[in-house]
Amino acid sequence: MEFTNVLVVKNAREHGVNNLYVTNGKYSVKSFDKIQADCAGLVAYPSLINIHDHLVGNWVPKGAPSRPYSNTNIWVEELNDSEPVKERDKYLKKPVGHLLEEAGLDLAMLGVYKNIFSGVTIVQDHVPRQKEEYYQSFPIKVISDFQQGHSITGKNWWGGDELSEEMKKTKGKMPFIIHMAEGSDDLARSEFSGLVDQGLLKSNSILVHCTALTPEQFKQLKAAGASIAWCPNSNIYLLGITLDIDTVLKLGINTCLGTDSTLSGSTNLLKEIIYTKQTFPEISNETLFKMVTENPARALMLDTYKGMIEQDVDANLLLTRMNKKDPYENFVTLNTCDIELLMYVGKPIFGKIEYLKYFSWNAKDYHLFECNDCKMFVTGHPEEILKKIEKKLGYKKHFDYLPF
Ligand SMILES: [Zn+2]
Repeated sequence: MEFTNVLVVKNAREHGVNNLYVTNGKYSVKSFDKIQADCAGLVAYPSLINIHDHLVGNWVPKGAPSRPYSNTNIWVEELNDSEPVKERDKYLKKPVGHLLEEAGLDLAMLGVYKNIFSGVTIVQDHVPRQKEEYYQSFPIKVISDFQQGHSITGKNWWGGDELSEEMKKTKGKMPFIIHMAEGSDDLARSEFSGLVDQGLLKSNSILVHCTALTPEQFKQLKAAGASIAWCPNSNIYLLGITLDIDTVLKLGINTCLGTDSTLSGSTNLLKEIIYTKQTFPEISNETLFKMVTENPARALMLDTYKGMIEQDVDANLLLTRMNKKDPYENFVTLNTCDIELLMYVGKPIFGKIEYLKYFSWNAKDYHLFECNDCKMFVTGHPEEILKKIEKKLGYKKHFDYLPF
């Protein structure tokens, strides 16, 4: 298949109008069929990677009864008694240790749709590692090769092994993900030395939040080659502060932008990008673009997709409108309704119905709906999950990330 005359944004440095070819789910040097989509005036980006989410936590509205917190251990304790979680748990009764039963999968799928509607085809779901079937259940990639800890203070209260055992199991070949120093008080500040003492600061560590870290600790983090997952909207909502991003960027730490769940964070990753640009206008558009493409690809040690458009890699494509001439400026203003087509490994996941004619497709596999006068499709049936939730609750429930 061929996308003609499209502004191809290969990465944060190279872009130009060109034809883009996809063969057998990979970007190719030419097309081997006669299928052509005229994409003049549109922009082709690599699809996005959300480094930090809790898929079953994507309930609304946000819930943080006594914010701002000096550390989020207090929030975690309050959370189960908060109104949104009590409402969610009318549907999801079991804890997050095993999500393969129907209600858990439905809610995780809802979280996956939040990501799909913001151009994401790869997401890190920070929960105790689930059985492999869980990761096979979704139409996009939910990272299965990882080990994790909840936090240094809370350890793995939600399931999983001892933190040092989790790190040992990575064998340095997959990421180890942990919430780090999410707060501003002594307890939050103490977490970094706990991390170092337990041998958990390594090049495969992804440290989420890091709001209490000092410049000296950021230097240590950089020297170890670790990555940071940054969720500014969640941080500022829960804590009233976020990390020292100037120092982080000056040091050249591999920094990735994530949403967290909607219980504390942005509606979706596109909204997180817009929020970050508004809050930190000094961060360049290209830097923000890297934070949701090549930086998380590196942190997550992906092998078939590096968050760029390049030959012979997975055709994970985010095709959008061009509202601004500069493609990176355009990028930081995108909304769900600007998405023309989202592909995961060459398969159409979400977009305008007119693109489906280029693929062999079966109407029963898609939900068709209207969004801002555009006729859209999405893979699978999020509307049925919503119906099941509403039936259980006994009233209508609106999730702002669902565009129907
Ligand atoms: Zn989190």
